[in-house]
Amino acid sequence: MALEITHLGTGSRGNATLLSGEESKVLIDCGFSGRQMEKRLATIGVKPTEIDAIVMSHHHTDHGQGAAIFSKRWGATIHANFTTCAGMGLDPVNQCQIFDALERLQFGDDISLLPVPIPHDGAENVGFIFSDRRGARGAVITDLGSATEELLGHLRGCSHISIEANYDAKRLALGPYPPSLKARIAGRGGHLSNTQVAEILAEVVTDEVETIVLCHLSEKNNAPHIAESEVLFGLEDWSGDLRISTQIGPEFSHVLTQPASARIIQSKSPQR
Ligand SMILES: [Zn+2]
Ligand SMILES: [Zn+2]
Repeated sequence: MALEITHLGTGSRGNATLLSGEESKVLIDCGFSGRQMEKRLATIGVKPTEIDAIVMSHHHTDHGQGAAIFSKRWGATIHANFTTCAGMGLDPVNQCQIFDALERLQFGDDISLLPVPIPHDGAENVGFIFSDRRGARGAVITDLGSATEELLGHLRGCSHISIEANYDAKRLALGPYPPSLKARIAGRGGHLSNTQVAEILAEVVTDEVETIVLCHLSEKNNAPHIAESEVLFGLEDWSGDLRISTQIGPEFSHVLTQPASARIIQSKSPQR
């Protein structure tokens, strides 16, 4: 079985993504209550006790509020960098396994994760590049105000990209938030607008990318059809599968595919 990616829900009210391999199951973030996590996992036939680890992007409650209870109740180990561990009020010795930026995390022999630092206010946030044992790669990237060259480098070569499309610039500007909050969201350490994610994807997406999921859409400052059309407009010739993850999940799963070039190399052996 190849690695499967399932968003259990994304947005400002909670985020959690399941990476499911043959041997290991890892959650990226755990931003729902224990009961919600149990319920959402049950809809895809997964028991909480099957989860090996929760790997944290950052400490904000929409990503971490269920992690400690999940770990205590069902035994999954929490992995986080030091700032995130401290921000969640966890003991770095007994309650967290601490990782550094760009330190490869290995789960079983089928899931490998690389935490890549990304700018996000008041948090030491990381995006995750993951790979399976065949070397197929994917990404889950949320909560960032801008993309770094380092991140773009890691996104190149991924066959699956889940990335936030938080707000539409016009909706944010005209919307109900106070000016200070608007400035924070739109700042370099805030969130990505549809325009920014369209630009990022236009830079890194080739035919090798088969699936893209837009995540963490603001319910007040964005709408799925606006995000989707802006991204697709920037990716004119791309013919892969684009989906939107909302707060209500899980709605779909993706299987991590090997890039076409790798498949061609492998099938080059005996040909008749
Ligand atoms: Zn955040
Ligand atoms: Zn968030």
